[in-house]
Amino acid sequence: MNEVKKPKKQIFTFYIIVLCLILFFNLFIMPSIAKARVKEVDYGTFISMTEEQNIGLVEIQDNQIVFTDKAQEKIYKTGLMDDPGLTERLYASGATFSREIIEEASPIATFLFSWVLPIVLFFVIGQIISKQIMKKAGGANSMMFNMGKSNAKVYVQSSNGIKFSDVAGEDEAKESLTEIVDYLHNPRKYEEIGAKMPKGLLLVGPPGTGKTMLAKAVAGEANVPFFSMSGSEFVEMFVGMGASKVRDLFKQAKEKAPCIIFIDEIDAIGQKRDGMSRNDEREQTLNQLLTEMDGFEGNTGVIILAATNRPETLDPALTRPGRFDRRVPVELPDLKGREEILRVHAKKIKVEPGVDFTHIARMASGASGAELANIVNEAALRAVRSGRKAASQADLEESIEVVIAGYQKKNAILTDKEKLVVAYHEIGHALVAAKQTNSAPVQKITIVPRTSGALGYTMQVDEGNHYLMTKEEIENKIATFTGGRAAEEIAIGSITTGASNDIEQATKLARAMITRFGMNDEFGMVALETVTNQYLGGDASLACSAETQSEIDRKVVELIKKQHEKAVEILTENRRKLDELAKYLYEHETITGSEFMNILNS
Ligand code: ADP
Repeated sequence: MNEVKKPKKQIFTFYIIVLCLILFFNLFIMPSIAKARVKEVDYGTFISMTEEQNIGLVEIQDNQIVFTDKAQEKIYKTGLMDDPGLTERLYASGATFSREIIEEASPIATFLFSWVLPIVLFFVIGQIISKQIMKKAGGANSMMFNMGKSNAKVYVQSSNGIKFSDVAGEDEAKESLTEIVDYLHNPRKYEEIGAKMPKGLLLVGPPGTGKTMLAKAVAGEANVPFFSMSGSEFVEMFVGMGASKVRDLFKQAKEKAPCIIFIDEIDAIGQKRDGMSRNDEREQTLNQLLTEMDGFEGNTGVIILAATNRPETLDPALTRPGRFDRRVPVELPDLKGREEILRVHAKKIKVEPGVDFTHIARMASGASGAELANIVNEAALRAVRSGRKAASQADLEESIEVVIAGYQKKNAILTDKEKLVVAYHEIGHALVAAKQTNSAPVQKITIVPRTSGALGYTMQVDEGNHYLMTKEEIENKIATFTGGRAAEEIAIGSITTGASNDIEQATKLARAMITRFGMNDEFGMVALETVTNQYLGGDASLACSAETQSEIDRKVVELIKKQHEKAVEILTENRRKLDELAKYLYEHETITGSEFMNILNS
């Protein structure tokens, strides 16, 4: 009710203001404008101007004389006096003079033109404006009139809506969702056998893997309306507003059933309720969501999809059976998936024939769907920049580096010494890796500084789909991380800050070996750490006593030291190759995997 009253009150105020403005204008402004144009002079000036014959038009009015100078440029007025010789004097001066014939202007016309017409005009304009305001209040964006409304964006299926074919890869996720589409097409089939569709599906996965796209594709395929809202849009400043938005959203959805509700970033409202921090607004919103989900029967035709990249933070009440009981993982794409995504996006731009997408996909290992879309777009931009009509293989290859490591820094010039250190550092990593596995460890190494701050960039070889890692493999990886620093020590004789990221990564791996993977003889298979934020970088929190913690720290140091020694040993044994490869990289600034292996094996 409130939402409707507010705009009416506003419009009433608007009319009052307009009325006041009209009054003010007619009573004060108009007369003073008229006054300003006519100059008032004394009667003496009028007589002397008449005698000097400097007078043009004269009009004798009821209580004043209005006259102009001879050139008729200025208008004067003076009060009327009892002056019997006036007519003769005026005649002698040659002025054109007359007396005003007072014609009573129709009072009705005056009233109509100066009062009624403007008021009518303003009321008409007011009506138009008020209609616009009311329309907005009923629409999506008006904050003021829209408190407690859901603001959900509604997408009604259109012929160009997103389909499953637009979402490349993600076959497992698509399979889960196809069932939902089938249900929305033909609910009877499920009702007959007594099967209930899950009310809610939770899409979980790292950012940019196509969760939103998949949800839209379900709506597109099923040909039903799609209500989309982000979790954070529910949370308002006032307690209770979020809950009312949830109510409104479900009300709208039930009216339009069968339909899909999509809540993006559901963790914004669905976070675990703990005793420590209270957030009344969020808790009420969550409670309302739980109530609404319980409130409708399984087969009403409303399916709720939600996406999150922090599933572990969700309240267990939200993920229990009967609510979001089906979880659809949407993982980073594998090699085949990456290639498909590249192809889907390459259709939207002009690409030269013969581009090897498998090669590009191999180079972009670990990239998400959003990053791949970005890579294709960057390639198109690069082609335009260099005045070509289609993107080439080289454009795509360069864009991978741009998207992952940033643009080349054109004016960041490394000193020769620094360049040499970077060359040794990068070759150190690659050589340690190559000697341990006897295969090409990298696709390419460049030592052109990037806007991301990286001084060198190493494109790893895609090791294919690899789900398990042995203890030796992890140890080799740690040795590879320490290889950069080891090369600096051996070849330059001093150490630099360039290894900070390697140190971080090596420590993380070593710690995980001990605390999570049970790869330490002393601790065995005890979980000493739990991982949170699996999809957002994987933070870990220790779950052990302080003594164990210091023991873990000691073991981590020991482990890394051992691998560092191994790296130093490998590089010392291959000192000649280290120098040769570093020199090549220093001179050419780029070395490919095959060039690297050729020099190493020569
Ligand atoms: P999320 O919701 O998982 O963060 P989105 O669905 O918003 O990711 O994806 C962002 C963009 O990335 C999409 O607009 C699309 O261009 C691209 N993208 C991501 N995954 C895929 C995919 N599997 N196929 C095609 N494009 C994708």
